[in-house]
Amino acid sequence: MSMRIPEEFLALLRQKIDIVDIVSEYVRLKRAGRSLVGLCPFHSERTPSFHVTPSKGFYHCFGCGAGGTAITFLMDVEQLSFLQAIERLAQKAGLPMPVIEDRPADDLYSQKRSQLLQITDLAAKFYNHILMNHDAGTQGLTYLLNRGLTKKTAAQFELGVSPGTGRTLTDFLRRRQFSVDLIEEAGLGFLTDRGELRDRFRGRVMFPISDIQGRTIGFGARALGAEEPKYLNTQETPLFKKGNVLYGYSRARQAIRQTGKVLLLEGYMDVIGLHQSGLLNAVATLGTALTPEQAGLLRRVAEEVILVYDGDSAGRQAAQKSIQVLRALQVPVKVAQMPQGVDPDEWVREQGAETFRANVLETAMGALQFELLMLTHKHPDHMSSGRIEYLREAMQIVANEDSSIEREATIEWLSRTYSISLSALREDLQAQLRAKEKRSQTDRSVKKWNTVSRAYTVERPSDNAKLPAKHEVAERQLLTYMLLDAAIAKQVESGLATEFSLPIHSALQAYLYTFYADHEAADPELFLSGVDDPEVLQFATKLLHHAPETEELGSESGAIRDYIQCVIAYGVEKELATVSMQLKLASERGDIAGMKAMEAELWRLQRELSAGVREVRARA
Ligand SMILES: [Zn+2]
Repeated sequence: MSMRIPEEFLALLRQKIDIVDIVSEYVRLKRAGRSLVGLCPFHSERTPSFHVTPSKGFYHCFGCGAGGTAITFLMDVEQLSFLQAIERLAQKAGLPMPVIEDRPADDLYSQKRSQLLQITDLAAKFYNHILMNHDAGTQGLTYLLNRGLTKKTAAQFELGVSPGTGRTLTDFLRRRQFSVDLIEEAGLGFLTDRGELRDRFRGRVMFPISDIQGRTIGFGARALGAEEPKYLNTQETPLFKKGNVLYGYSRARQAIRQTGKVLLLEGYMDVIGLHQSGLLNAVATLGTALTPEQAGLLRRVAEEVILVYDGDSAGRQAAQKSIQVLRALQVPVKVAQMPQGVDPDEWVREQGAETFRANVLETAMGALQFELLMLTHKHPDHMSSGRIEYLREAMQIVANEDSSIEREATIEWLSRTYSISLSALREDLQAQLRAKEKRSQTDRSVKKWNTVSRAYTVERPSDNAKLPAKHEVAERQLLTYMLLDAAIAKQVESGLATEFSLPIHSALQAYLYTFYADHEAADPELFLSGVDDPEVLQFATKLLHHAPETEELGSESGAIRDYIQCVIAYGVEKELATVSMQLKLASERGDIAGMKAMEAELWRLQRELSAGVREVRARA
């Protein structure tokens, strides 16, 4: 166990941190008895199997087996090291981090990340300063004000301007002792053919883009003049992968969780404009089609995605692509269409947030309806000669809808609208569904999709059809009690001379023995925070999840003895089987001495089994 953090500090931290607060930032949780449940952020699922138990301070997913404490949750969901996760929690709790001796460098990669975060943040402040205070920012400020933003909003979103000279930022960063390499790597500058450092962004309005915690990781930049391209993003850097982030997400997350809805827009200005009007659940992609990673971010916090798209054909196509990505992740989607050529931010500014809500959001159509509407654009003769062709393609779209209610309602509507018998449509739908089922059996790739790259290998419960043997159940019970009670752990250690039978059981057993060698009392959370094997961590969390409350433990001492006995018996039975086999072999060889020895051993084992006490044997 690699514990470099003082335990008193960890204890204090755990008092101040509520796991529900931490998890709620990423997962929409609903109360269910003693725990809270939500959709697991670590695997793709439709019905919630991710449980958080506040009284015990941990979470467990019954779907993929992920489990742990607030610390491990942050480690996994944000890909942090143990120390980084502690730091994050300490920051949240308002506790100063203790000084840590021989702190591991957390590896070079994360040092580089923090340098990149620092320089990117500084650049955002620099650009913002130019916009707000400098002549070089006047044109940009005028542009933003003309688009209806207030100075206050510009400050809130830390908007900025990159001066046109081509070296203002890089000179500033060099004076602050940042290396040329770092400036280049952060995507803020580049070297010319003559080896001179130049600003990457010149004469543009700068939109800082943040990660899910709200730290600036890159920029979107809009040309103020006629330069091409009109929009330019930070190149891919170790911090910035444009397919993994959504503009405005960190600001919108809370409102999305509260309303269950997220408005997905196309432009930075749309997001800012809607926020300014009080529609706080708006986000946008970074000028690209929605990726599965971005859809995953939305799925974690939203129950429904409302696509707000421009009514032109490019906008409609983008909406259709997004529907496909979201549908693959089983996220309910609606489409709110803007009149052609009207930007959402403009609309909201002119008509007000309430009108926007009533006329655009409330009238949003279901994804299926939208796709059928799109299909009529492809078949302008869908009401006459093209009717059959249209219906054929329409049924393929209907078959892609997951909800059977939606499917049924839609084919009834199609039947009425196109005067075709309902039974014919139903038959066609069944055929489509069967074909789809066949396809999905050969392609499970979507189901395997994960939001988090760290893969877990523990078997899913449903894959594990056979019931566990009696001794395995006993071992599991013992391990559960050992997690909760130091005395029971000692009792098992002294009463049992062997390792548990399953590798995962004996691994946890070893961790527990190590823990109780240093600790007087049980402390499941502290224990878990020191387990560095993810499989063991998961397994221990699963046990704790099914564990009785600690108060109920006292009356269990009889049961503990029985479980220990059961584990011993299994070990002895296994030896009995081996010795019987050796006895048989000896008799086949006619080896009298061998037979006698084996018989004696057999007797001894049988006595041991019935006496229920394990003798410590010299030969072992
Ligand atoms: Zn899961």
